[in-house]
Amino acid sequence: MSSALVHNLIRPELLALHAYHVPESGGMIKLDAMENPYHLPQFLKDEIATIVTSCEINRYPDPDPRELKERIRQIEAVPEGCDVLLGNGSDELIQILAMALNRPGAVLLSVEPSFVMYRMIATFVGMRHVGVPLSPDFSLDIEATLDAIRRERPALVFLAYPNNPTGNLFSADHVRRIIEASPGLVVIDEAYYAFASDSFMKHVADYPNLLVMRTFSKLGMAGLRLGFLAGRSEWLDELEKLRLPYNVGVLPQRVAKALLDNHGVLLQQADQIRKDRMILQRELQTLVEVYPSEANFLLFRMENAAAVFDKLKARGMLIKNLGNAHPMLKDCLRVTVGTPLECQKFIEALQESIV
Ligand code: PMP
Repeated sequence: MSSALVHNLIRPELLALHAYHVPESGGMIKLDAMENPYHLPQFLKDEIATIVTSCEINRYPDPDPRELKERIRQIEAVPEGCDVLLGNGSDELIQILAMALNRPGAVLLSVEPSFVMYRMIATFVGMRHVGVPLSPDFSLDIEATLDAIRRERPALVFLAYPNNPTGNLFSADHVRRIIEASPGLVVIDEAYYAFASDSFMKHVADYPNLLVMRTFSKLGMAGLRLGFLAGRSEWLDELEKLRLPYNVGVLPQRVAKALLDNHGVLLQQADQIRKDRMILQRELQTLVEVYPSEANFLLFRMENAAAVFDKLKARGMLIKNLGNAHPMLKDCLRVTVGTPLECQKFIEALQESIV
């Protein structure tokens, strides 16, 4: 009876969805979610402890934490005249953007395979999603993308730069052509900016229809949930109206501010991860087909990937199986760059799982 009630009331497109699956990872080497594997130095842990004990958690957080936003503007080199909007992770910002631009009949366009939340959030808010396939080497199929933009006139375009789960950085020239050809808003999602050789941040003021989105999740703050949008205030002032007033809690605000005041520590860790990515890539490509990456993970393809994934899991090594995520990802697995020891254990476990 109650199940029939649920089925009669919940929107059918939501009933058809599977919830975003987060696997059990207790006791495993966790290389599935692009987290920074490093701990903070003791002086920062002590600073966080002081913040936690002095914070007034009985009070609502500051709805407009200006010092934190100013710090972000400085260290992220947000251009003059541009503003930032804070989100509870960048996932929340994707949702705010979709809600804001979802006029009747509006389209959200992204490329595929890419970050699954673009499509999922379009479904959540009842917005039509158009996915344009990438080329077989995972570069942008620029002609097909420009055709789709002319045909669908999307209100909102998301491009992940670098892309997840493929790891590559699209051609900047192609991205520029997409921004210039788009009648709607283009959001460049730079979740992996700390590991990449290029960014659109410096161009964000140059186009009336461009926003850049970043997150601190991959830089060592995944548990805090903090992302931001950078762009012209004419956009951000409108999006601000949809942001729930207390979307970023008092502890994330204060802890993030302390970590960003010591940004060098995080950048050093990111630098180490970039170097370790190159070492892991070299070792991995002696075993399987590895795709180029400008992120903190590597995508690779091999025979019997699903069976290998299971064997790795049985050996306590959790990575991501993408084999069922998209037809172009058949037999693809994705591994996050961990510490040198974790990477070494991963390579050993993979060698043992291949035979
Ligand atoms: N964008 C991309 C491309 C991602 O890969 C992710 C996380 N996997 C996100 C956004 C969301 O990050 P968060 O919500 O942690 O900020």
